[in-house]
Amino acid sequence: MAYDKNNIFAKILRDEAPCFKVYEDDMTLAFMDVMPQAEGHTLVIPKSEAENLFDLDADYAAAMARTTKKVAAAVKKAFDAPGIMIAQLNGAPAGQTVFHIHTHIIPRAEGIDLKLHARQMADMDILKQHAERVIAALD
Ligand code: AMP
Repeated sequence: MAYDKNNIFAKILRDEAPCFKVYEDDMTLAFMDVMPQAEGHTLVIPKSEAENLFDLDADYAAAMARTTKKVAAAVKKAFDAPGIMIAQLNGAPAGQTVFHIHTHIIPRAEGIDLKLHARQMADMDILKQHAERVIAALD
């Protein structure tokens, strides 16, 4: 399938759609997931037109890994999370719903189940506060 330039993350990268940004560099952008599976659920995307891992340039894969590590540490600190889950889905059969590659950073704690995937919109004021917490925790 050809890359769809009108997917929502491509629009976010072009500033045609809003996001609660927590981190950005030349090759990547990180922002809050609007339908979080747990408080602090954050996404990392590359600034390159790749639908999934298989058409992502290796340099961008490395950049995503670096940003994921950096932002995951901030999310862990900001939400005092005992565990952090990193997920990256390739293809609809794997559960991918937005076809611009992204890494999920999801805080986990024993006894707290994950909410359903991409199901319920967060309160935007709360999401903004969560973004500010992550930004404040970045090294
Ligand atoms: P996936 O199913 O792995 O493709 O995940 C897509 C993720 O993007 C889901 O967790 C959605 O909640 C999230 N999402 C969809 N639209 C937006 C948006 N406009 N801003 C932030 N996150 C979004």
